[in-house]
Amino acid sequence: MEKKYYLSYKNIEPKNIELVRSLIKGGYYKKDVEGKREDIIKLVESFCEYYDIEVPEILFNKPTPCYDTICNEIHLSNESIVSLLHEFKHCLQHIKQLKNTEDIARGWSLSLFYRASKNNFTKLAKEDKILFVDKNDFK
Ligand SMILES: [Zn+2]
Repeated sequence: MEKKYYLSYKNIEPKNIELVRSLIKGGYYKKDVEGKREDIIKLVESFCEYYDIEVPEILFNKPTPCYDTICNEIHLSNESIVSLLHEFKHCLQHIKQLKNTEDIARGWSLSLFYRASKNNFTKLAKEDKILFVDKNDFK
């Protein structure tokens, strides 16, 4: 049985939930690609202000999502919020010199997205569109 990452991270800061929630309430899913990218950049800037870290550059249209520690760049292959949160968590842990594992990035990104929007999370999970989430949990 797959680990329930979306329930695994208990200490999600309310400010982060608020930021992701307001992005979704702002009509994120109805925007075109350019609109989504603008929102993603604004969200990352807000996170960085909250955590007082340097803002990473965000590169879209990359083949594989990742965080480049040397250049402080977040690479995204699409406009998935979960994917962005996952790579941002790697960025944050790296800059703050904290433990930085796949488990931590998955737990934080999935738990944060789940808490920010159970409706959207459930919809995407049912469509099997969220990595590391078992769609059978949402039947
Ligand atoms: Zn990762």
